[in-house]
This record gives sequence, structure tokens and C-alpha cells, in this order.
Amino acid sequence: MPARAKVVLLPGDGIGPEITDVTVQLLDALGVEVEYERHQFGGASIDAHGTALTDETLDACRRADAVLLAAVGGPKWDTTDPARPRPEQGLLGLRKGLGLFANLRPVRPPPALYDASPLKREVIERTDLLVVRELTGGIYFGEKTRTADSASDNCLYTRGEIERITRVAFGAARSRVTSVDKANVLETSRLWREVVREVHSREFPHIELEHLLVDSAAMRLIAAPRHFEVILTENMFGDILSDEAAMLTGSIGMLPSASLGSDGAPGLFEPVHGSAPDIAGTGAANPLAMFLSAAMMLRHGLAMDAQAAAVESAVDRALADGLRTADLGGSATTADAARAVLQHI
Ligand code: NAD
Repeated sequence: MPARAKVVLLPGDGIGPEITDVTVQLLDALGVEVEYERHQFGGASIDAHGTALTDETLDACRRADAVLLAAVGGPKWDTTDPARPRPEQGLLGLRKGLGLFANLRPVRPPPALYDASPLKREVIERTDLLVVRELTGGIYFGEKTRTADSASDNCLYTRGEIERITRVAFGAARSRVTSVDKANVLETSRLWREVVREVHSREFPHIELEHLLVDSAAMRLIAAPRHFEVILTENMFGDILSDEAAMLTGSIGMLPSASLGSDGAPGLFEPVHGSAPDIAGTGAANPLAMFLSAAMMLRHGLAMDAQAAAVESAVDRALADGLRTADLGGSATTADAARAVLQHI
């Protein structure tokens, strides 16, 4: 990593700018040597430039070491007219433009919030899992057909696509990877299983590999989430399982994510929640998912593991001290939350 890492900030819309500002304060307090470049994105970019992602912004992201994004969208830009630009086009353009094929979503309910989970405390306690989802292949991107009475979506995976996501999952695992597929029915899943097995035995034999069918994985996520360490899965199964796993924590304001591309390409780090237009400008946004996304950026994007762990532990300790924003049933503002976390840095 160069002495001074370059980070592109994309505050986006709604609560985005508010949670970005306090995140920069947090990174400054950590003493992280980072050079920031801020760009408009999403609705804000549509207003200024007529498109959700300009070529200039995409180029800046390509040149950066990491991209930290808050959220995009809002009623102002909602449209059903296909000819009008939409904020989410920026997200798709960024994923495509940076070649982000791996989506990582950690699910680690903070101990202070165990009782916010819809599951019993004894089920959720010590859950610490990571969903690694393939992001650019599979049924979402296959050829589609439609007549008045029939429709089809083609699910296609290549050996190379499966190999590279498998390496990301094993690279993130300490002891076990659970590969999720539907190999009793789908041919793509049978290839998936074969390739995952090969990469495992060739490159990661010291890590345990298990295979689970997606229906069984969905049940086990609720019945025994502690069973999982890293879940490796294809695009559509990952879409569904990562949302299911996210709900284990009980609050959307707490969940970070990372999307990674090939070695050397900058990763994209962002909270799972949207731009929360209903509370934008009120100072009530919970910045913790954004803080934890910055922690993922430090770990996966800038190789600053110790600083990442410092952010995660400061968030846990602030929550243990009683920090609760409105979405967590309290009355702390964005600024209060930032102060509470900064105290523990
Ligand atoms: P949302 O996540 O923005 O909000 C859902 C609910 O959760 C709202 O009540 C909101 O106030 C609350 N919430 C979300 N994040 C919060 C936070 N950090 N602190 C406190 N409360 C929080 O989802 P939505 O309402 O379905 O979508 C709003 C807009 O965001 C839409 O335009 C949608 O397209 C967009 N969106 C963007 C992304 C993204 O940028 N990646 C993701 C999802 C939705």
C-alpha cells in the first residue's frame, strides 16, 4: 500500500452526506493516512450532471485504493420512465466499471443488541459469519426470453467465475467454508460443487469445506447461525441468504458490506441500508453501519487490520455503554453516536 492511500468518498443522497461526514471524523481520529476525493453520486449527480455516475467519477474510483459509498436514491428521482436516469444506475455502473464480482456481508450481532434480534438470545449469541456472494454471474445476468405465455431466465456459470469467488471465500476463512448450492437439481450447482472441491483440495486443504443445499442452509441459518463461519454461494442464493442473515441482527442500521474485484482493483465499501429519505436532514441517522463499512475498507481495501479492529471494538463498546439511535429504540443523534464511538478510539 502506498504511504498515503487514496479513498474516493461517494456520499450520495438522503442521509448519505450526514453519515459520511462523521465517518471521516472517525477515520481522522484513528490517524489513518488517507487522501480523500469526494464525488457526487446517484441523485445528487443526476441533478448536477444528468447522470448517476459520470465518467470522471468512475475514473477517480478506478484510480483509488478504495471507494466508500453511503447510499443513493430518494422520491425526487423515482421514475418509471425508462428514458430518465435513476440513482441505482450509478450502483450498477460502479459494480460493472470496477469489475466487482465478490460481495461480502458480515453478520456479527453486537452483544449489546442480542435482545434486538428476532431470535432468542441463546441462538444468536456469538454468531459471527460472513456471506460471500458471487455478484456478476448466474441467473440475474443470463439471457432472458418472454412471450405472452412463457418466460425464461438462463443461469450460466463458468469455471473461471466459480474459481475466483471460491478463492475470496477461502481467503476470508479461518477454519470452515460452507458452500451452498442446489446440486440435487441444477447443473450449474453441480459444476459449482466440482470447482469448489478442486480449488479447496488444491489451494486450501487446511480449511474445512462442507456443502449444503440452499433450502437446508436457509433453515440452519435461523436454527443454528453459530454453525456458520463463511458461506460461499452464487448470485441469487446469496441475494436471498444474505438478507435472511442480515435480519438476525434485528436492525438494518448496523450492517456493512464490501464488494471486491480482482487483485489490485479498488473495492467498494457501503452500508446495506438505503438513503433513508424519511429521516434525511433530521440528524437522526444511525452512522454505525457506515462506521463498520469503513472498518471493512480498512481491513479488505487498505490492509489496516488493527485500525479496522479498533473501529469494531469502539462500536461494540459504545453500544455496551448504552448508545441507541432512534432505529435502535433510543434518542441518540448522529452526532451523539459519533461522539460515543470516538470516545473509545
Ligand atoms: P432504507 O434502507 O433507506 O430505509 C428503510 C427504513 O430504515 C427507513 O425507515 C429508514 O429511515 C430506516 N433506516 C435506514 N438506514 C438507517 C440508518 N442508517 N439510521 C436510521 N434509520 C435507517 O430503504 P428504503 O426506504 O426502501 O429506500 C430509500 C431509498 O434508498 C430508495 O430510493 C432506495 O432505492 C434507496 N436504496 C439505496 C440503497 C443503496 O444505496 N445501496 C440500498 C437500498 C435502498
